[in-house]
Amino acid sequence: KVKQSGKNNYMFFDTKMLEKLKGKVEIASALREALKTEGFKLLYQPQIRVKTGELVGFEALLRLKDQKISPDLFIPVAEETGLIIEIGKWVTKEVINQIAVWKEKGLKLKPIAINFSAKQLNDEKYLEFLEEALKEKSVNPAYIEIEITEGILLERTESTIAFLNQLKGIGVKIALDDFGTGYSSLSYLTFIPVNKIKLDKSLNDKFLEIENIKVMDSLISLVHSLGLEVIAEGIEEEEQYKRLKIGGCDYIQGYLFSKPLAIEEIEKIYNHNFLEKIN
Ligand code: C2E
Ligand code: MG
Ligand code: MG
Ligand code: MG
Repeated sequence: KVKQSGKNNYMFFDTKMLEKLKGKVEIASALREALKTEGFKLLYQPQIRVKTGELVGFEALLRLKDQKISPDLFIPVAEETGLIIEIGKWVTKEVINQIAVWKEKGLKLKPIAINFSAKQLNDEKYLEFLEEALKEKSVNPAYIEIEITEGILLERTESTIAFLNQLKGIGVKIALDDFGTGYSSLSYLTFIPVNKIKLDKSLNDKFLEIENIKVMDSLISLVHSLGLEVIAEGIEEEEQYKRLKIGGCDYIQGYLFSKPLAIEEIEKIYNHNFLEKIN
């Protein structure tokens, strides 16, 4: 962006801005290249049922195959440039293909969550695309979960809710990601059509402190009283797991049980009980 300065509307770039811009331009071209050359891949992070330790599903996490740029850097650029639309379709197709492969192999199917950016909600063609892709591979929509963040609701609230209702209408599940960061508001939970709340790592890092435990327990009860499920993400410590179990949290995702894995590794742990890892 060009910064305007002073009364003369004198425009300038300082060196930092220039560096940043150069960085973005490079990332954008890496993304365009990756779209053309199959340069993306997905990792899958296990989600575990707290009570039993069983693997219940996955979150698909996007990577550039050469791994040089992390999602925290390239996702914002993909959003700004609009490339997220095409990238998001690639992710959707890849996830549906994966479920079809597991089906073919006779494995008991487990849902995969896909991260969704605000821009993707403005894409009216996405729903049609998704339905078509599911039909083509005969995959049940119930095995797809779409993760949205509250940021999505800051604009276009009515059409956003309509879009989410359509998604839900075709049988796809919806999860509210990064809950507990920034402008989290409990009132959202009463009007956005979601099935599951994902408690953000920043919240989970703090809840063991005495005053916060009560907040965590009440939050979990509140989510349950609205008929929704709750998953805690970024769980690294056994202590957190134990306390969340007492609080009645449904699912856990985090390094304690598993990092995001390549597909070959996923198939090895598909029927794993993750409690063995910590006992
Ligand atoms: P997110 O959706 O909140 O995903 C969780 C992030 O936390 C992932 O980072 C995951 O690798 C990391 N994580 C999981 N467990 C732990 C843990 O125990 N400790 C720590 N320190 N980290 C943990 P990742 O893969 O780098 O992705 C970052 C963000 O990029 C995601 O945050 C999501 O917002 C976005 N993203 C990733 N893939 C996609 C995609 O396909 N589409 C869109 N639109 N966004 C994506
Ligand atoms: Mg997510
Ligand atoms: Mg998250
Ligand atoms: Mg995030």
